[in-house]
Amino acid sequence: MPAVPPRLALTTDPKTVIVVGAGMSGLVAALELERAGHHVQIVEARQRIGGRVHTQRARDGAPMAEAGAGRIPRSHRWTWDYIEQMGLATRPLYPTGLNNVALIDGKRWVIDATTDLSTTVDLPPDEKALGFAGLVNTHLLENVEKLLAAEVIDTPAWPPSTLAHLDRLNIIDHLATQGLSQAAIKLLTLGAFPTSISPLMLSRVLATYDRESLAVIEGGNDRLPAAVAARLRGPILLSSPVRAVTQFADRIEIAIERAGQRTMMSADAVICTIPYSILNKVQFEPALSPAKQQILAGFRYTKATKVAFKMSARFWEAEQLSGFAQLDTGAEIWSPRWSSDDGSGILQLYQQGERAAEMDAMDEAARAQWAMESIEKVFPGAGGHVQASASYSWQDDPWAGGAYGIPQPGDLFRWQGNIASSEGRIYFAGEHTSEYSAWIEGAVRSGHRAATELQKATF
Ligand SMILES: Cc1cc2nc3c(=O)[nH]c(=O)nc-3n(C[C@H](O)[C@H](O)[C@H](O)COP(=O)(O)OP(=O)(O)OC[C@H]3O[C@@H](n4cnc5c(N)ncnc54)[C@H](O)[C@@H]3O)c2cc1C
Repeated sequence: MPAVPPRLALTTDPKTVIVVGAGMSGLVAALELERAGHHVQIVEARQRIGGRVHTQRARDGAPMAEAGAGRIPRSHRWTWDYIEQMGLATRPLYPTGLNNVALIDGKRWVIDATTDLSTTVDLPPDEKALGFAGLVNTHLLENVEKLLAAEVIDTPAWPPSTLAHLDRLNIIDHLATQGLSQAAIKLLTLGAFPTSISPLMLSRVLATYDRESLAVIEGGNDRLPAAVAARLRGPILLSSPVRAVTQFADRIEIAIERAGQRTMMSADAVICTIPYSILNKVQFEPALSPAKQQILAGFRYTKATKVAFKMSARFWEAEQLSGFAQLDTGAEIWSPRWSSDDGSGILQLYQQGERAAEMDAMDEAARAQWAMESIEKVFPGAGGHVQASASYSWQDDPWAGGAYGIPQPGDLFRWQGNIASSEGRIYFAGEHTSEYSAWIEGAVRSGHRAATELQKATF
């Protein structure tokens, strides 16, 4: 796999293409196809582009918080390449020189260079002897080393059959079978941690994740989809959900709903980026293959809700705190706009798992109160500084149906070759079809891959 996205050659056989979805995968697919000389239209269900790259903004347009993608590791090279192509400025996610906090069993710990997290819980003697760094090395990083040694990342040899045994259980159950205590498991899975991930998928994420170089796009991460969209020549039809897709020998037709009316559109091919969590709401004629239908029935999306608070002061900095924290409740606290000039700031609760779904039944005020109760445990007194709040539930979002689609244990091998495979004139893209699922990187790479496949089609 090349380090940066290669350009498609100019086509001698221009095709008409409908891209369904104006998230990062659809936008990249459209950009690359247009650059190669094809004619592209995008249809998008929402009133906005960007999909799960969604910056929540104040009334004056100033970015407040990222409801979706919040950080971009420098090691995600294809995403960075598009950021650079678009001429966008970035800045580090984390402030330097300040400390994070951990909340474990209701107790608050400031994490500085001297903190060994293993002292925060009651561990058996052998685990205590390892210390937190030793636990991480033995139980997480050794698998990363094995994966790196297999040299399969970004190659057709992924997923590696030699490491299939690391894809049988979720990480929590896997660590338990290694004899690790519940307290140690809790330490190793602190924060907004997708607990259904297998050790193999987790190792892949860690192997391609550079925690030291996390960045955000100046002015909001939604500037990236906006910049790509601005480069496109073809139209982007907003508020146009696709309801049906019908394939014929010589063309493909889609039915979209606009202002209560069904409208038909026709093209040579379709790139479909609709998340698999909701794709079964679209009617396909002929039906999708049994393999794809099995995947749609089995794909589980992670639940995530974020609640952001605009704070009158970044009072935590007086205590040398960064505003970032990891909780043992499947949550993290982020302080994404820490560098504002007037001393104000943001605290955002990023809650994953079933607790995120608990908030779905609540109204906005109740959600804010629920989230602030968690934040108060880490940053006491925070409630007194709140000026405004905004929440976002991805499982409640009808055009997402969940936060992201990381394959569950066993799925990688069970579904191998079918997750992303094209069906007739339909090409599938989206983070869920990529090895970098749950990242912009996955969306970008999948959009490029689908465009490349379509370019090679002979119909
Ligand atoms: C809470 C959260 C945190 C995240 N954190 C990070 C992070 O820190 N860093 C990172 O890199 N990534 C992160 N991600 C992942 C990243 O946001 C996604 O991987 C990426 O944005 C997905 O892009 P996509 O094009 O595959 O899908 P989407 O962005 O979902 O695009 C699909 C589009 O299809 C549209 N659509 C759906 N149904 C229809 C229909 N029937 N007709 C027409 N259009 C339809 C949708 O409205 C949507 O716009 C996060 C995501 C979430 C939710």
